[in-house]
Amino acid sequence: MTTETSSKTNLLNLDRDGLVAYFTQLGEKPFRASQLLQWIHQYGLERFEEMTNLSKALRERLSRGAEIRSPEIAEDQLAADGTRKWLLRLDDGNCIETVFIPEGDRGTLCVSSQVGCVLNCSFCATGHQGFSRNLSTAEIVAQLWVANRALGSDPKGERIITNVVFMGMGEPLLNYDNVLPAIRLMLDDHAYGISWRRVTLSTAGVIPMIDRLREDCTVSLAVSLHATRDALRDELVPLNRKYPIAELLDACRRYVGDGTRRRVTFEYTMLEGVNDSVEDARALVHLLADVPAKVNLIPFNPFPQGRYRRSSPEAIERFREVLRGSDLTTITRKTRGDDIDAACGQLAGRVTDRTARRARLARLGIST
Ligand code: SAH
Repeated sequence: MTTETSSKTNLLNLDRDGLVAYFTQLGEKPFRASQLLQWIHQYGLERFEEMTNLSKALRERLSRGAEIRSPEIAEDQLAADGTRKWLLRLDDGNCIETVFIPEGDRGTLCVSSQVGCVLNCSFCATGHQGFSRNLSTAEIVAQLWVANRALGSDPKGERIITNVVFMGMGEPLLNYDNVLPAIRLMLDDHAYGISWRRVTLSTAGVIPMIDRLREDCTVSLAVSLHATRDALRDELVPLNRKYPIAELLDACRRYVGDGTRRRVTFEYTMLEGVNDSVEDARALVHLLADVPAKVNLIPFNPFPQGRYRRSSPEAIERFREVLRGSDLTTITRKTRGDDIDAACGQLAGRVTDRTARRARLARLGIST
């Protein structure tokens, strides 16, 4: 385990603005930022010597003061359905997981934003692990950087990773300052150049940060709803005690605003006998009647300490029928990669729980 910290600037931490500031301070022109973005993120280089459109003097200067430093791959697993999961070891010995899900001409990378999670949702494996710390921008972006390099290039020159979802470990809106530059790099044409429609941030519902995101950048928003009544959602997603359903939906309406942004996707994990009845489906239609919405039904994925069961295919179908009867676009998410524990809610990594989770929840105003 390496714990050494480097005094060099890790360029994976810097988005365009950050790189412009970095080069300005070196007395270089701002266009160097675009060059570096391309070398690092499009070509996946880590050695400055190979960046041939920079002068030799600048390359040497960068080698002395900067680095492109990514977590190392500790495990690389391939599921029967093509889903691939990497366990990445961070400098402090913690490990996080990143999952690549190929489907037709789409390739989705599911990234983590924190080591563990503080929110403690009762049906999520990550929640049961406790929380260690936020990921840096470099550690978030490196998931894309490492996956791109590991996946190699497409023979036809097409992009392999076409979509990114913040649905791995952690709550991205509780690590906003590091997540935002990472999103900017995903969207930047000189870096990953992914359309905002294909970058989805999933949140349990941190209302003030949904509002900030709306002001700072345009991405697709997914909200983990899972229940139509506050009493049940309080139990499943304890954050609901602070930010209840009605206020959350108001924030979603504000996010969509004048329609510049598309509908919000509402995630709804199907838990047998808990939230999967026809009445629940009707209540969901009612609740979302005046929110531009899509619904993503996720069959619950079991994990060792879990106390819930997955709804039966019949119950999911019945639920879906009710939604279909309204105008709500509904997708049932396929369970992918569950033979390597890569499905939703199964990502656990290896987390040193520094918890004080109670204290952290208390700071968010939630008592346990
Ligand atoms: N903290 C963010 C992102 C992480 S989870 C959020 O809450 O949205 C990504 C999605 O997987 C969320 O909708 C989450 O509720 C769901 N999920 C968590 N555990 C699950 C499980 N065991 N089975 C199915 N879905 C799960």
